[in-house]
Amino acid sequence: MVMDKLSSTLKNTLSKITGATFIDENLVNEIVKDIQRALLTSDVNVKLVFELSKNIKERALKEKAPKGVGQKEFLVKIVYDELVKFLGKEKKGIKITKKQPFKIMLVGLFGTGKTTIAAKLGNYYTKRGHKVALVGLDVYRPAAMDQLEQLAKSINIPYYINREEKNPKKIWKSLKDEVKKYDIVIVDTAGRDALSEDLVKEIEELNKEIKPEEKLLVINADIGQTAESQAKKFHESCGITGVAITKMDGTAKAGGALSAAAITGAPVKFLGVGEKVDDIEEFNPEGFVSRLLGMGDLEALLEKVRVEIDEETAEDLGKKFLKGEFNFLDLYEQIQGMKKLGPMNKIMEMIPGMSGMKIPKDMLDVQDSKLKKWKFIMQSMTKTELENPDLVFNRKRIDRIAKGAGCTATEVRELLKQYRQSKKMMKMMKGDPNKLMKKFKGKIPGM
Ligand code: GDP
Ligand code: MG
Repeated sequence: MVMDKLSSTLKNTLSKITGATFIDENLVNEIVKDIQRALLTSDVNVKLVFELSKNIKERALKEKAPKGVGQKEFLVKIVYDELVKFLGKEKKGIKITKKQPFKIMLVGLFGTGKTTIAAKLGNYYTKRGHKVALVGLDVYRPAAMDQLEQLAKSINIPYYINREEKNPKKIWKSLKDEVKKYDIVIVDTAGRDALSEDLVKEIEELNKEIKPEEKLLVINADIGQTAESQAKKFHESCGITGVAITKMDGTAKAGGALSAAAITGAPVKFLGVGEKVDDIEEFNPEGFVSRLLGMGDLEALLEKVRVEIDEETAEDLGKKFLKGEFNFLDLYEQIQGMKKLGPMNKIMEMIPGMSGMKIPKDMLDVQDSKLKKWKFIMQSMTKTELENPDLVFNRKRIDRIAKGAGCTATEVRELLKQYRQSKKMMKMMKGDPNKLMKKFKGKIPGM
């Protein structure tokens, strides 16, 4: 596996956490030191290491685990979170658009694996149903065209090379119309030993001529800290849109390349993880960290923390719900409390067994605008009315309140209806708090 040394050190650290009797500052310090050492050994940028470990320490000492989650499990979650944050939160693969052809240009120094990853990408996207062609523009290295041809033939993908023409721009021009019939065209370019002036010029010119949708800088995983300056320079020359890190299989030092991406802000989009054409991975920070830390257990744990956080919030609200007298103020508080959790449909997705439920969208969102209106309506009620909602079921009062709130009587009735539904639900489930907790999540007042 990729970065297995780092992985085994981190797994060791995690087992220190889970094996501990309790979590105290000493343990947190030890854990943080372990992680620092592990990351530095794999060449992650020093500044980033300290930032990351500072975050872990602060959170570990400050934040409290949600109810139902042990402090140990929570610490594991914090380590996971911070590592993912370091690698970039989102999945950063390439978003292929309808643009025809969608052009991916590969740039990078000599021997970084451009030609190899061109074929890998060709294979990757062909397998996913796209019509792909490879274009070879490396006129610099003697056998470059043969290499591309051989690779393309081995995976049975259309390719365009030119052994006579020595100007890459001209080669592209001659193919421009021809490649329009493909969904994706992957352009392999020439490298140099260093980022020389003529390479910069060549890339600039090709960039202008080709106007690629994606410009991937290809770097090999073992270049360590120099990755940073290389990424910066290439970025200045053509504005790279992402990085592909190759030869992840061959080094324990890939931290340098990974931090280069984090520092320059050019997201890592693909990893090359071996010599075979299938050895390519779309980069996904969460999946990557999960594997580093030992996937199976972690997944279950993360799921648990997620669910417990949910339970805790629901329980708080549930208690209020059971408090006994249920009036408008409670109703308002509850709806607002639920809103704090985030979009309802997202919450539903996280609750086991709820994700598959078909719930009409407008039932999930008590819109902010409505909530605001309800606030005005409540403000137009007297204290007695707020505490005794039944009084309000009266036409005169409804009209008066509507006037005061600057809304229609229908809107006041809507709030009344919401109140009634919630109250009915409360009665229905009273006496069985567990059942309530369960149902509460699916049926927030009025939903
Ligand atoms: P280019 O000069 O940038 O086009 O680099 P090449 O594609 O020719 O690759 C240089 C060497 O690195 C070749 O021998 C490839 O087989 C090898 N290579 C490329 N990617 C990987 C990888 O992910 N893992 C391993 N182990 N070798 C790779
Ligand atoms: Mg090449």
